[in-house]
Amino acid sequence: MPRITRIDGKKTIEKSKKKVAAYARVSMETDMLHHSLSAQINYYSTLIQNNPDWEYAGVYADEGITGRNTKHRDEFNRLIEDSKNGKIDMILVKSISRFARNTVDLLNTVRELKAIGINVYFERENINSISNEGELLLTLLASFAQEESRSTSENVKWGIRKNFEKGIANSTKAPYGYRWDGEKFRIIKDQAEIVKEIFRRYLDGESAYSIAKNLAEHGVRGQTGNPIEQTSVKLILANLSYTGTRLLQKYYISENQTRKRNKGELPMYLVDDMYEPIISEEVHEKALEIMKKRAESMPNKNPKLTPISGLVKCGICGGGISRRKSSGRWICNTRERKGKTSCASRPILEKELKEATIKIMRKSKFSRIDFTKKVEKILVYGDRIDFILLSGKVSSIKREYSGERGSNPFFCKIYCGYCGDIFHRTNWKKQGKVWICSKRNGSCKVKKMREDEIIEASKSFLGEDYGGKVVEYIDKIYIKDDSVTFTFKDGTVKIWQRK
Ligand SMILES: [Zn+2]
Ligand SMILES: [Zn+2]
Repeated sequence: MPRITRIDGKKTIEKSKKKVAAYARVSMETDMLHHSLSAQINYYSTLIQNNPDWEYAGVYADEGITGRNTKHRDEFNRLIEDSKNGKIDMILVKSISRFARNTVDLLNTVRELKAIGINVYFERENINSISNEGELLLTLLASFAQEESRSTSENVKWGIRKNFEKGIANSTKAPYGYRWDGEKFRIIKDQAEIVKEIFRRYLDGESAYSIAKNLAEHGVRGQTGNPIEQTSVKLILANLSYTGTRLLQKYYISENQTRKRNKGELPMYLVDDMYEPIISEEVHEKALEIMKKRAESMPNKNPKLTPISGLVKCGICGGGISRRKSSGRWICNTRERKGKTSCASRPILEKELKEATIKIMRKSKFSRIDFTKKVEKILVYGDRIDFILLSGKVSSIKREYSGERGSNPFFCKIYCGYCGDIFHRTNWKKQGKVWICSKRNGSCKVKKMREDEIIEASKSFLGEDYGGKVVEYIDKIYIKDDSVTFTFKDGTVKIWQRK
């Protein structure tokens, strides 16, 4: 029989842990002093201690900052000292205004910490200070935070300060109709006339296709020198820049260093009055309205294939789940755009999704189901699929993990108890499927383990239908020769011992 022991986990995973601290602060005017501070401390200590990759390095908290008296920053100073002394690898803060008194203060501190490799993560603004765009955004936001310390909405609108104009403009390319003169966007007159014409004709009811065709016939060329196409016309119509306002963080640099369009993963920022507009805000809004109406009246190109598109959502992060043609799987959009660490959801095979739907709707064929009248949304979790029906009823069905490719619950969960590297799955002669350290044959001497033993271990803690539970409740599994250590997402640790 397996032996169950609760351990604190430190022995096996100490090496890779990041020392994480948090800084909390309350001001007399805006917070119920004590309640708020203890709530912040509680929140952060739980957050840090629940992350098995993090080591709790403390919550530093300053209280009682009144309008005139702003110098009570003892804890803040201690935080910086401890950071310099190697006690901290990363600092969590609620927002920029909580961290700094002014722009200069903020940038100096953040840069100082950056120089010794310490990241400051600002929760509300979703900024990592060591990221590429971190500093630019910090500069902008800090100036804003200084002027207005009340909380801000996702889309922050503010008048831009002269000093920052250059930085932003340098980081983006001038749109058609403008050129960058080293200081500012300047209008290119004949191009600006074309932009105006495009808007005017579109508002008069002409289609983007017809406008493009007509412009091409008249020899009008775009920025690249090629004739203007339908898509360029649409891009021009949708581009907010022509109103003199720029949208920042339209793109961001992802974990693997590629440039990606921001579709809501990060906040965006509007910057007003940076340069001379070509069209008014009113005209721009009208164009967007028309565009939206026309898009809505377009027939769904392939309704038979994916009648549930748009209905399927990720139960874990709340994002959409879309069908990926190439793999026959449905994958969370957050995970697809921001990488595997951004959302713990698992891709689901289209086959499984369809079969579950047929069962829940009690129909013999997928194509017979009328979704528009019955289903509000379909939430996919690691261990189950919830069907939220328009009647208000919720029906659940367990997810199935066959163990085979694309449907293995242990995928990306198993790590080496010695070197911390990830285990991979492979065929091993007569033993069948085994899991093995990626560093084996190299520096690591850990034994391999048969998959049926890992299944046995999982069943001993989670029961017969372990698959979904492994995905939903287990954070990581560490294998160390004859033992399998399960670290649960809630912090529980359980060890199984090979007989
Ligand atoms: Zn997700
Ligand atoms: Zn290893």
